[in-house]
Amino acid sequence: MYILVIEDEKRLADALVQILKEARYQAEAVYNGEDGYRMALKNSYDLILLDVMLPMMDGFSIVRELRGNHLTTPVIMLTARDDVSDKIHGLDYGADDYITKPFVAGELLARIRALSRRHGEYNTEELCFGDLTLHLNSDDISCHGKTMHLAYKEYELMKLFMSSGKTILSKEMLINRIWGNDSDAEDNNVEVYISFLRKKLAFLGSKATLVSIRKVGYRLEEKA
Ligand code: CA
Repeated sequence: MYILVIEDEKRLADALVQILKEARYQAEAVYNGEDGYRMALKNSYDLILLDVMLPMMDGFSIVRELRGNHLTTPVIMLTARDDVSDKIHGLDYGADDYITKPFVAGELLARIRALSRRHGEYNTEELCFGDLTLHLNSDDISCHGKTMHLAYKEYELMKLFMSSGKTILSKEMLINRIWGNDSDAEDNNVEVYISFLRKKLAFLGSKATLVSIRKVGYRLEEKA
């Protein structure tokens, strides 16, 4: 699970990353709203911890814009005060939960676990994109009544693309997420798997295709 921390109090942000890493999550921090928003759109995180009061772009605007871009990544707002209106705003704009500062590590980790369980329940069965359906229990993909089985990494890639909305996923990010930070996988590995997937999508007769965005990465798109 890959977590983005958007928090301008640098010491708190770095402490959060440390706590998350000790709990065996992958995590990284950014210290202003604009960077946070850009990173959240660029990389497909599993969860975002989002402060409300941030320089350049506040937490409410970030969550509203992310939802406007069809990004469904769960968001936990970090609210500084015990201010009810902050919590209501956050939830109205599309946050999934909030936690009031100061909090203890145990509470944060419990909320992350609860949220990932809940989020998992929304789509334990299948994930859809255009005419494609990915079956999460069997690693099969189907389209227009045809079904194919996907190999493990093909499945993981497809799941990432299908849950990332309009986000462009970079090769670097795909390597980190699918092969792991410390793997020796290279761009080449990604290209090979993308080409496997393109062939499978073509075989299924899907209108969806993995488009290369030059020098940036790949995005799943539906042909008109
Ligand atoms: Ca702040």
